[in-house]
Amino acid sequence: MILRHGSCRCGRVRYSVSGEPKRVGICHCTDCRQESGSAFTFFGIWEAEAFSATGETAIYEGRKFCPQCGSRLFSNDDVEAEIKLGSLDTAPTNLVPTYELWVRRRERWLQPLPGAEQYDQDRLAE
Ligand SMILES: [Zn+2]
Ligand SMILES: [Zn+2]
Repeated sequence: MILRHGSCRCGRVRYSVSGEPKRVGICHCTDCRQESGSAFTFFGIWEAEAFSATGETAIYEGRKFCPQCGSRLFSNDDVEAEIKLGSLDTAPTNLVPTYELWVRRRERWLQPLPGAEQYDQDRLAE
């Protein structure tokens, strides 16, 4: 089974995810823009038992990050783990988003990703 590793910028927090994600997406919402400082986030969702992490994290609104270097890393609970895929050790990844959230907030210079489902807001808001 494939095992992927990731870490924060300073290396104090490390994690791994085993197997393929349940789904991979990108999100253009205001929360994702502000927390990342970028135009969108690229994330994958795994079952909780596929995820493990070491190192101290801080948390804000359910989103965990490294308190030392500030890298945004993951959100996880007993059910699933949502990983910010830019924190994986290998770039580029071989993971491809199948959906886009909050496309109403997408930068005008970005095109819809071919083949990806487009949601005006969250998936559940449709
Ligand atoms: Zn760090
Ligand atoms: Zn978002």
